[in-house]
Amino acid sequence: MLQQTQVKTVVPYFFKFTKKFKTIEALSKSNEKEILKMWEGLGYYRRARNLLACCKTLVKNYKSRLPNSIVEIKKLPGIGDYTANALLGLIYNEPRIAVDGNVKRVFSRNLNIKEKNIKFDKLIEKNKKKLFSTNRNADFVEALMEFGALICKPKDPKCLACCLNKTCKYFKSDKKIKNIRNKMIKNKNYDIFCYINKKKQIALTKNNQISFLKNFNLPEIKEANSFTKDQNWKFLKNYKNSISNLKLNINLYYKFSNKLPSKYNWYSLNDNKEFVPSFTKKILRQVSTLF
Ligand code: SF4
Repeated sequence: MLQQTQVKTVVPYFFKFTKKFKTIEALSKSNEKEILKMWEGLGYYRRARNLLACCKTLVKNYKSRLPNSIVEIKKLPGIGDYTANALLGLIYNEPRIAVDGNVKRVFSRNLNIKEKNIKFDKLIEKNKKKLFSTNRNADFVEALMEFGALICKPKDPKCLACCLNKTCKYFKSDKKIKNIRNKMIKNKNYDIFCYINKKKQIALTKNNQISFLKNFNLPEIKEANSFTKDQNWKFLKNYKNSISNLKLNINLYYKFSNKLPSKYNWYSLNDNKEFVPSFTKKILRQVSTLF
């Protein structure tokens, strides 16, 4: 849940999930529809699918216990290097560091070397004796991340109060490094075509290959001007939407029709029982203004 998402946003979702599913087995018996509905609003829905798939795999192949080897743990859905290291450190007290943005910044500033010029794996391997000179590795993993978030903050690090300021090269240097993260923003133009009927329903399909919402409920969506539209399509609105690093410029079209296109289902514009991603909800809101 915490990937790309702030703690304060995650907290209510975390409590909702742990209240409903007390064990891995309980969660594994749920289904995608239920999990996605509970996840609604948190975004990055692939995480919800991975969470469910991960629990099912753990129950089926690992007696509901998280494996304690990096090779096995990385076979689980949605678990990459970062999460694998965090889990092995936090749960099994293994000497590991979960290298996230906070941790990179702490190392980078201590050495006063730009992040992009540091090979973090090699650095950790080379200094493992110094770094892991504790038997409280679980606390160490957590502490490093917290240290980056609370003391060695992205802006205005609390250097005067910092326990590392005697050795920190950033603190001592007259030429302090600057880590500039260039988020690669991509601009995309899409045309969206909504079939609607007089019962205030819209046709949605999961059968789409659109990269940022693959296999989620959407109307027909095409790269702008890639589809020759007949004159029955009426223009409704142009608006902007952002998803992750994508800036989307959207032209929304609609057409009244009682005929459901193949592989689509009717979805009530007022119904919120079934999960739809926020991207689609925004479309539904625009289309609702027609009634
Ligand atoms: S002295 Fe400042 S820059 Fe260095 S680690 Fe501490 S907070 Fe970060």
